[in-house]
Amino acid sequence: MSNEEILVELKSFVGAESRSLARLIVYLVEIEERRLHLELACSSMFDFCTRRLGFSEGEAFRRLTAARLVRRLPVLLDAIASGRIHLSSLVLLRDLLTETNVDEILAAASGKTKREVEELLARMAPKPDVMPSIRRLPDRSASGRHGSSRTVSPLPQTTPPSLQLKPIAESRYRVQLTANESLRDKLELARALMSHRNPSGDLAEIIEQAVDLLIEKLSKEKLGTSSRARRSKSSAKHGYVTRAARREAFERDGMQCSFVGENGERCPARCFLEVDHVTPLALGGSGQAENLRVLCRAHNRDAAERVFGHAYVEDRTRERRREASIRPNKGLVETHHFRQRKFVEARSQVRGALLALGFRVDSRI
Ligand SMILES: [Zn+2]
Repeated sequence: MSNEEILVELKSFVGAESRSLARLIVYLVEIEERRLHLELACSSMFDFCTRRLGFSEGEAFRRLTAARLVRRLPVLLDAIASGRIHLSSLVLLRDLLTETNVDEILAAASGKTKREVEELLARMAPKPDVMPSIRRLPDRSASGRHGSSRTVSPLPQTTPPSLQLKPIAESRYRVQLTANESLRDKLELARALMSHRNPSGDLAEIIEQAVDLLIEKLSKEKLGTSSRARRSKSSAKHGYVTRAARREAFERDGMQCSFVGENGERCPARCFLEVDHVTPLALGGSGQAENLRVLCRAHNRDAAERVFGHAYVEDRTRERRREASIRPNKGLVETHHFRQRKFVEARSQVRGALLALGFRVDSRI
């Protein structure tokens, strides 16, 4: 091939790549709308993109950001397909773009490098000057965080940002963290207190024992203690989730979402786990462990939407958030108690009204 041929061919590949990127983004939009990722046992689109499609975290983040922008502003798709704008620029501009300014911004950002788009952004949405101040910064290396999806991600975080935890050999990991003074003092104190049992002062030993204690404490808080689990079976029939039933569900399902996709794979989510009624409470489902399952937030919500519809679940979520803000630090069990109390109040009002209308007292009312 001549040099010229190589360049012409390359250019056509670049064009084809932009067009196929635009097409890929359309598929991502469609998959999210149809919620296919949930059926495939992924707890989020990010999870789907990294685990199922093999994208890097950065690729997944940029492509999903673009997909969500395209859904809102379809005109962006042409710009991506024609290679006028790259995804890194879209990520930078994502909060600025609206229906009214999208054409103007696209024209201004077309063919620009990321650096040039940053300058454009600074002109269009200037930030106030940094206030002069002198303060002691924690001695934290910025390198681990800078540019990671964590700092810019508008995507739902289904898993917290990972620890600096690198495998270095079979079953060996290097854990790296930056301690402040107080943590250092505590580690030194623990090392001293453990010196008989841990004469070499091995830090891993100290941390493992400390984490064991933490896990025990958090598990107790999450699952409740057996002493308070003496709710009657009848309350479970009315949908109450007793602490005992909740604990049983977690013991059975483990600390992982129990959703299994059509492909037979189980959702790997371990964060934001919730207890869900298999037969919903509103359809007479009991609060006994057989009717409970552990789901991640995304799968729990999806299950509810399949039964009650999107609008109802939106309302309930808002209501629950309001309840939680009124009664902070109360968990799911208390929410059910609260609902049960409202139900009992309503029943006694109906009963009173029926008696006033001349109905006889009947124990079934
Ligand atoms: Zn899940």
